[in-house]
Formats: sequence, structure tokens, C-alpha cells
Amino acid sequence: MKEIVVLSGKGGVGKSSITASLGDILAERYALLLADTDVDAPNLHLVLGARRDSFEEIATSEKAVIDDDKCARCMVCAATCRFDAIIGEDKPIVAFYACEGCGACAIACPEQAIEIRHATNGRVNAYSTPLLHVIGGELYIGESSSGRLVDIVKRTARRKAEDIGAKLILTDGPPGIGCPVIASIKGAAFVLIVTEPSPAALHDMARLLEVIGFFKAPAGLVLNKTGRQPRIEKIIQDFADDHGLPILGEIPYDIAMPLAISMAQPVVTAFPDSPPALAIRAIADRLAEAIGP
Ligand code: SF4
Ligand code: SF4
Repeated sequence: MKEIVVLSGKGGVGKSSITASLGDILAERYALLLADTDVDAPNLHLVLGARRDSFEEIATSEKAVIDDDKCARCMVCAATCRFDAIIGEDKPIVAFYACEGCGACAIACPEQAIEIRHATNGRVNAYSTPLLHVIGGELYIGESSSGRLVDIVKRTARRKAEDIGAKLILTDGPPGIGCPVIASIKGAAFVLIVTEPSPAALHDMARLLEVIGFFKAPAGLVLNKTGRQPRIEKIIQDFADDHGLPILGEIPYDIAMPLAISMAQPVVTAFPDSPPALAIRAIADRLAEAIGP
């Protein structure tokens, strides 16, 4: 089973829309499963117009829980917590969102009144369209442990792929270069980088490339929203050349893309003859060549 992960560094460059369209096209030639590891802001299912079939809550974070009956109100725990997660004047209260589950308060408590317990912090959703299955993670508001949730999403996606006989997992990854990105890259056969012609996107892509280099994963570039900023487009093309990063294609800036998003459909489905849809078809061909049968 092969895994392709789509990353961007900068958010908002069109990564999820392009993943959705690539999913629709690649499903014509591969038994395919889609995954969404952008657990902070999952939206692949939205751009696909997918329906949620089921979900499973997960508990990958840990929080301090105080037993009021054992507590002597000494407030040693509040003085110990370096995250200011224990509040209250004369009765300790754990501020749930601030607690990192480090356990220092439990060690310091003279009454052994504090336990560190697993806490529900997100869910793994299973979605489907008439054509595709999608497994996506969703971190609850204010929660942490996004990297661990990504690991669970990937394991769930692999199990689902085996169940349905899928040979390829195409993953819509998170923006940035942090823990969920690293968790997303692990085990990928190919990383598809999506960027746009802007200095911020180039800057973030350069940082992402360093992370990808650490994993030695083969990568290719898609330049989205082209045709309006030739100077920065040229700079990005030169950057790709200098770094041995093959450009799999360029997608012209076109009204069909935002219109398709507003219709909750991949652009290749909503406007199959539009310039971006034709460009994504050509990119899918090159991607298929890059990953093999
Ligand atoms: S350290 Fe223990 S006993 Fe003291 S206030 Fe905190 S929970 Fe209560
Ligand atoms: S577990 Fe750590 S972060 Fe949470 S309240 Fe205790 S000391 Fe603070």
C-alpha cells in the first residue's frame, strides 16, 4: 500500500481543493482511500461534499483530576504548576484547556489527591462520497496532542484501506512544519507540495522542504493560482530547480476553483473542462508516473 501526502507549509494555498480533485481523478485508476490529517482545521470532506457515516472519539491527551474528598486545600499544586492550569483562591480547580497533563502537581500533592487521566480530545471521522471513502481527524477546540491524533488517523486509514482493498492512500496534510506535519510525512512514498506565487508561501515551502529532506521522502511541486504574479512565479520555479524539486504542474488562477468550493464539489467534477481542472488532470498523470503502478 502506498501513501501520498499533500502538504503546503503555508495554509490557504488550495491544498485541500487540489487533493479532492486528485482523489476523484486517481480513483479512476487506483483503488484509493482519502485521509485528512489537518486535524486542527479538517475540511477535505467539505470540499468533497462527503457525508459522515460514523466517528470514534479518541483520548490522546492527559489532564489532572483532583479528588475533592482527599484535597486538604493547601494549594501546593497551584504553586507547582508551571502552566498556571490550577486556579482558585482556597480550593484548587483545574483549568482544563491549560493543563498539559505533565503530572508535576500529582507528584507535589501531599495528600495524593491528584490523578492524571486520559481525556477525550478529538475524534476520527469516516466519510464517504458515491466515489470515495475518507478518514479524517478532528481535534476538539482548545485541545493538544495533534501529532498523536494524526498517528491514529493514519492507522485507521490503513485499516480501512485494507478493508476496502485500497492500494493507495492520498492524504490531505496540515499546514506548517510542526508535529502533525511530521506525523503525516512518516511512511509517505511521495510528498506533493502545493504552493502559490507569494513570498509567504515560498518562505513556508522552503521550511517545509527542510523537514521533508530529513525524512528523505521523494517530493514534487504544484504551483497553484498562477498567471498573475510572473515575477514571484519565476522565483519559485528557480527555487524548485535549485533544490532538485520537480514541478508536476501549474494551476492557473481561475474563478472555477472558488465556484467549485462553494458548490462542495472538486473542480474536476463541477467544471471538468475549466483550465484548473485540465491542469489538475495533467498533474494526476505525472503523479501516477512518479509513484508507479
Ligand atoms: S496539593 Fe493536593 S491537597 Fe493541596 S490543594 Fe492541591 S490537590 Fe489539594
Ligand atoms: S498536570 Fe501539569 S499542567 Fe496539568 S495541572 Fe498538573 S502541573 Fe499543571
